[in-house]
Amino acid sequence: MSDSKIKAPRGTFDVLGDQAASRTALEVRARSILEGAGYERIETPAFEATELFARGVGESTDIVKKEMFTFEDGAGRSMTLRPEGTAPVCRAYVEHGMHKRRQPVKLWYLSSFFRHERAQAGRYREFWQVGAEALGSEDPAVDAESITLLATLLAETGVTDVRLRLSSLGSVESRSEYRERLQAHLRAHEDSLSEDVRSRIELNPLRAFDSDHPGTRTVMASAPRLLEHLSTEDAAHFEQVRALLDAAKVTYEIDSTLVRGLDYYTRTVFEFTSASLGAQSGVGGGGRYDGLVERLGGPATPGMGWAAGIERILLAGDRSQATPAAPPPVELFVAIDDQGHDVRAAGFGLVSEARTAGLTAQMDLGGRSLKGQLGHANALGARFVAIVGVEQTTLRDMQTGDQQPVATDAVVHAVLRGQHDL
Ligand code: AMP
Repeated sequence: MSDSKIKAPRGTFDVLGDQAASRTALEVRARSILEGAGYERIETPAFEATELFARGVGESTDIVKKEMFTFEDGAGRSMTLRPEGTAPVCRAYVEHGMHKRRQPVKLWYLSSFFRHERAQAGRYREFWQVGAEALGSEDPAVDAESITLLATLLAETGVTDVRLRLSSLGSVESRSEYRERLQAHLRAHEDSLSEDVRSRIELNPLRAFDSDHPGTRTVMASAPRLLEHLSTEDAAHFEQVRALLDAAKVTYEIDSTLVRGLDYYTRTVFEFTSASLGAQSGVGGGGRYDGLVERLGGPATPGMGWAAGIERILLAGDRSQATPAAPPPVELFVAIDDQGHDVRAAGFGLVSEARTAGLTAQMDLGGRSLKGQLGHANALGARFVAIVGVEQTTLRDMQTGDQQPVATDAVVHAVLRGQHDL
């Protein structure tokens, strides 16, 4: 038997004190921005059938090939801890017949995700994302609104040195012709490519743009660019997205090498980075995924969305803006003048009665002396303190210092009245 301490798994972390408070503040802000724009909260399960991600995210992606936490449930079915949120949201859209609602259906989430990555600063194995998905409309205004909302969230959380890169991957049809051109280019320079890129020429040639292998980068510098081979409709769609972003005064750069790590993207793709983050500079990104719902067995449905990393927003954001409102003040502190069972029970009953009446109430749970309890009440900034004793209960107004005996069952009423009189 070993009595060594058990630690949290590699790449995971505990959320404590101030960090929990910053997260709450961020969540409140995200909620206000997104729900204000008509997004409804959705939460999906932490694990899903593995097939959802294999089909949705794509077999050739790093996420599916190397990064999923996959296990068998008791009945031998393959399950996976969610590595991303878009495929689960699309699954839920189909499962709940949301295509019958008024379109687009706009949903947001704030949940934890799991990827088996090399853990480092800003890169974890369980991390949190806030995400927004709009399903059911291919209007370029959906793209522009979605991107603008993330820009607003980053601005409001004080993320500095932000860069927004934007591109279009075209629709699946216009991309297939381009893919062939790109594959021909890659094959012509196969000897200079990294092993990884070479092995993906057939399945996922676009990912070559993401490689940091020097030989591959040289080859990619002269590679044909998808943005220059868009169909007329795709080019017009992209132009409108840009015009709308201009109208919303969102600053962006066009980056024709921008490809994202998930297979489902079509048309608009984008990524926000912050120079203040160092190596893991991605704060959030997303794009349009017009074929995904259909790929998951639903009706043909366009979609557009993004996800942004909570830890990265907090790392790159302005700490002072992340400070939430102080916890609610303690309206009644119940102190016990005797540690006997009856008095403790009377005090405990009083706290419970006060809470039921809508007051914030606390009592000492550590067996402290009366002096210690009063010190605690003071430190909490309690408005009233009821001192419950064997003989009588005393109610003290901590602001005026006035003190008077009160029947225990009249304390709540007296506090409510006392507050009212203020
Ligand atoms: P993705 O789903 O890969 O597009 O990631 C969207 C955002 O989630 C990124 O920009 C990061 O902010 C965040 N993110 C992705 N992977 C991780 C990770 N392993 N640890 C922390 N944050 C992550």
